[in-house]
Amino acid sequence: MPVVRSLPTPEAESLLELTRDLVEREVLPQVEKAEANAEFPRELIRTLGRAGLLGLAYPEEHGGGGQPYEVYLQVLEELARGWAGLAVSVSVHTLSCFPVAVWGTEEQKARFLPDMLGGELLGAYCLSEAHSGSDAAALSTRAAREGDDYVVHGAKAWVTNAGQADFYNLMVRTGGEGPGGISCLLASSDTVGLLPQRPERKMGMRASHTATVVLDGARVPADRLIAEEGQGFRVAMSALDSGRLGIAAVAVGVAQAALGLATSYAKERKQFGKAIAEFQGVSFTLADMATQVEAARSLYLTAARLRDAGKPYGPQASMAKLFATDTAMRVTTDAVQVLGGAGYVEDHPAERYFREAKVMQIFEGTNQVQRLVIGRSLTRS
Ligand SMILES: Cc1cc2nc3c(=O)[nH]c(=O)nc-3n(C[C@H](O)[C@H](O)[C@H](O)COP(=O)(O)OP(=O)(O)OC[C@H]3O[C@@H](n4cnc5c(N)ncnc54)[C@H](O)[C@@H]3O)c2cc1C
Repeated sequence: MPVVRSLPTPEAESLLELTRDLVEREVLPQVEKAEANAEFPRELIRTLGRAGLLGLAYPEEHGGGGQPYEVYLQVLEELARGWAGLAVSVSVHTLSCFPVAVWGTEEQKARFLPDMLGGELLGAYCLSEAHSGSDAAALSTRAAREGDDYVVHGAKAWVTNAGQADFYNLMVRTGGEGPGGISCLLASSDTVGLLPQRPERKMGMRASHTATVVLDGARVPADRLIAEEGQGFRVAMSALDSGRLGIAAVAVGVAQAALGLATSYAKERKQFGKAIAEFQGVSFTLADMATQVEAARSLYLTAARLRDAGKPYGPQASMAKLFATDTAMRVTTDAVQVLGGAGYVEDHPAERYFREAKVMQIFEGTNQVQRLVIGRSLTRS
């Protein structure tokens, strides 16, 4: 079932076509086995990098694709339609390039960005800790200046791409309590004392590795401080506004895949002498699923177009993340229902979509936290 898109340029049309082609040829043949075995698709991510898909939304002068955010997000949605875990890795990589690209000095941008955006390197974003999730400003990993280095002690939890990434954005405490004591360091994966642990055993997206990263006296050169000391929380939050739109697009991709599967199945499966799609009880479910997917896509595109126009888009990004991920949960649940017993077993990907959708309501700010952000924007203005 093709998605009808309105894209801003012929170049964007070609990019979407290239992505769909890559998904058919490279992504779909690998996804089920890799998810079953929790195998991280590092080589496939390199293939996406060589196709220019790892730096799409960043300026061409630093090696990015120079594409509007709305185009990048639609590429991400198509990738997620094939493999959510893969798309999440790309989304987190894009998020991980944000601190240098937006807050870095010109020297840092020239030094780091071409490799980060060039397709060979993969990034990670380390904000959460075991005791500070939604209350991210309570983080306790410490970095103390010693000569030309920061020496970091602590542990970052739930790091997507951990153990596979080449660079890690570390949100660390260099000052007192609260958000004003946090700084952002860009650490390389070969930093001595930066120790990714065993990947978590997750309900879904098992091929997307998530792990704790222990920092045991890790020395990060002081010229890898991004922005000023004490500005790290602002850096982290501004990156998340963009990142949340990535998660919204991934959620729409998963919901679209579930809708496509449920529709095909309902046209094939016969009960009481006819295709189940002919029963209004089923076709109304499909109609509601399709309407929700379109609405979620419209919401992330609206926020992205505000961002592309240089306008504030934070609350809209939270609305898009909230609505798109709740939609993915509802639509994937309905897809399992439309398939009946077949939806509950691994012969069809409906159960995988369902497991993948759940985490999207949790990471990059739970959906309760999105409501906090939206609520504050209403009462503060
Ligand atoms: C697969 C996966 C990948 C992840 N990747 C990354 C990553 O790459 N980098 C990173 O930094 N983090 C990552 N995370 C962490 C993720 O962002 C956190 O799990 C999330 O922010 C929630 O934190 P928590 O798990 O500690 O839950 P908690 O903060 O303990 O929340 C528990 C429950 O309480 C609710 N709650 C908390 N505070 C409030 C409140 N004020 N009002 C109402 N409800 C509230 C929450 O919504 C939730 O339902 C990842 C998590 C997962 C599961």
